[in-house]
Amino acid sequence: MSDVRNVIIIGSGPAGYTAALYTARASLKPLVFEGAVTAGGALMNTTEVENFPGFRDGIMGPDLMDNMRAQAERFGAELVPDDVVAVDLTGEIKTVTDTAGTVHRAKAVIVTTGSQHRKLGLPNEDTLSGRGVSWCATCDGFFFKDQDIAVVGGGDTAIEEATFLSRFAKSVTIVHRRDTLRASKAMQDRAFADPKISFAWDSEVTTIHGDQKLSGVTLRDTKTGVTRELPVTGLFIAVGHDPRTELFKGQLELDDEGYLKVAAPSTRTNLPGVFGAGDVVDHTYRQAITAAGTGCSAALDAERFLAALA
Ligand code: FAD
Repeated sequence: MSDVRNVIIIGSGPAGYTAALYTARASLKPLVFEGAVTAGGALMNTTEVENFPGFRDGIMGPDLMDNMRAQAERFGAELVPDDVVAVDLTGEIKTVTDTAGTVHRAKAVIVTTGSQHRKLGLPNEDTLSGRGVSWCATCDGFFFKDQDIAVVGGGDTAIEEATFLSRFAKSVTIVHRRDTLRASKAMQDRAFADPKISFAWDSEVTTIHGDQKLSGVTLRDTKTGVTRELPVTGLFIAVGHDPRTELFKGQLELDDEGYLKVAAPSTRTNLPGVFGAGDVVDHTYRQAITAAGTGCSAALDAERFLAALA
């Protein structure tokens, strides 16, 4: 059993590294579990990031995360590329268990485990990510000026993404498995009125084509089984996100969609000394800068919590 730390951070995206930077600079010597396979978080899987302030010419996602990591480490954050497999956050001293079974103890814990976008589960989906395939119109829409784009999904996010993309695109085809949308009436009306948006009803993507870049998709009619080709250079997948909260079920309060609940505008969860930040909390904005922002808030909340204990 280890000594009792001030703070343990679970997760290593923009939220986790920012929380690490702030708590390290406050001399709290944070221990950060970065994740075994996905250290660095969602931006490790993308190419150019053009909307993180401070990088006039943009920066590659993995480089941005390397910089954040190094900055946190420079001030004394202890970074461990391992998963947390169990937690007990209920007592005054919280415990966090790693994959080797070692139990780490701390007075405060910051949860920044992010969320996982749902995939279609098709070959090429990951290899063409950042090369035509995207999960974020706000992030990548700008790269698709005057291009033909498909958006997969029928909920609010899909329709909002399609409407946003139609500002840039030559055309946007919404591919939906059913013949009606789940999105709100107002959102639907806006999409139906948009001359650049058309619909592939009762359709699913069965193949993603392209070698270095996306060149098109094959659609299958879910009723007739008939297939057809749709030549597009952008494919936005908007079929939902799953917050990584499995570990915390039964201890931390979650909302109906499984996101961590915090007492906004603070980052406090239902348990004293446990804070949440980034995409594991946020189903609205889901941006690197907002994750970093709430990571900073969580660090300051933890700092104040620890100061009050002293
Ligand atoms: P994440 O970045 O998801 O990091 C969480 C990390 O926590 C995980 O990756 C993992 O390493 C770790 N973790 C999870 N569970 C455990 C555990 N049990 N133990 C230890 N560690 C764990 N946003 C922008 O602003 N601009 C963009 O251009 C942009 N492009 C994007 C491109 C792609 C392909 C994707 C997927 C997203 C993009 N985003 C972009 C969104 C942005 O990446 C996210 O909003 C942001 O990364 C969320 O940060 P986070 O710290 O909350 O979580």
